[in-house]
Amino acid sequence: MGKMGGMDQPSTFTAHDYAGGEKEFERGLRPRDFAEFLGQEPLLEPLKLMIQAASERGDALEHLLFSGLPGLGKTSLGFALAKEMGVPMKVTSGPALERAKDLVGILSQLEEHSILFIDEIHRLPTVVEEYLYGAMERFQLEFTLDQGVHARLLKLDLKPFTLVGATTREAMLTAAFRSRFGHVARFEPYSPPALAQILRRSASILAVDMDDDALTLLSSHARGVPRIANRLLRRARDVAQIENNMRIDLAVAQRTFGILGIDENGLERADVRVLRCLAQANGGPLGLKSLAVAVEEAEDTIEDVLEPWLIRKGYLSRTPQGRILLDPGWELLQRLGNEPS
Ligand code: ADP
Repeated sequence: MGKMGGMDQPSTFTAHDYAGGEKEFERGLRPRDFAEFLGQEPLLEPLKLMIQAASERGDALEHLLFSGLPGLGKTSLGFALAKEMGVPMKVTSGPALERAKDLVGILSQLEEHSILFIDEIHRLPTVVEEYLYGAMERFQLEFTLDQGVHARLLKLDLKPFTLVGATTREAMLTAAFRSRFGHVARFEPYSPPALAQILRRSASILAVDMDDDALTLLSSHARGVPRIANRLLRRARDVAQIENNMRIDLAVAQRTFGILGIDENGLERADVRVLRCLAQANGGPLGLKSLAVAVEEAEDTIEDVLEPWLIRKGYLSRTPQGRILLDPGWELLQRLGNEPS
């Protein structure tokens, strides 16, 4: 992972590893309700309808699946949803629910109509997933106590609740599990104007001024991801604080990119390493594992953070045989020449 002189964050936007400060920072910028959840209006409409219908019936909201790349706002939308409904939300994650016992502990304490948010739900162990089925369908947990002739079926009634599952890998969920969600909200990358709106709000919370041209530059280099946009803003704020009395102008934004190793094409060092690696393999196809080893990045980071954007830009493509470098990728590398990455 790249090092930056004087900066406390790695240059690569990794999928999962955040420094503690970064998490605090994200919490402060999180939209609090639907009105503050910017740039994804199509996602909100069906949810508003479902909330109204459920509340008129006096039922818990149906279970929801939030699907999309890291940083697109799945957790934020969960919190905003809880706020809109005026209910508490309990947050956990697939890997944290190791045994059925962990799930029982959480489910039995849920208040009526509250939300259980399970992040990375595709990583839920199969045994736990199967217990969850009954809880989702009938608000009931069933266990077998003892074995053989002494075996007894024990039922535990739960208060009606709403499960919100978040996943970056919807395809890894079994069809049986997916069918138990009433609605799937699929998060798409944000447009630069939507990111600009989010950055304006974040800048005002952080009490920094930002010129329009700097805002345009930051939002066009954020890969459609609000988390990345906010992180660029945080770095630009550091530069502005040191150099410019808390005003992010174009020069500050450009200097921030220089420090982070982001070039004028919006490419980071790690992106260039991925493309060069494919070029060295004669354009591929190259499997994910080999690529990850060669560029020294986690497979998740390559799949969830680096590749989606490189694919959108048309530089590379995923095929059943592996990743291949496309013509625009070759042309870009030619333009970059032998500059160190
Ligand atoms: P995910 O759960 O999909 O990984 P998060 O909900 O943690 O993403 O979002 C990361 C950060 O991006 C949040 O802290 C928030 O500041 C910002 N964010 C995400 N979506 C939005 C949005 N629609 N409007 C405003 N800010 C957003």
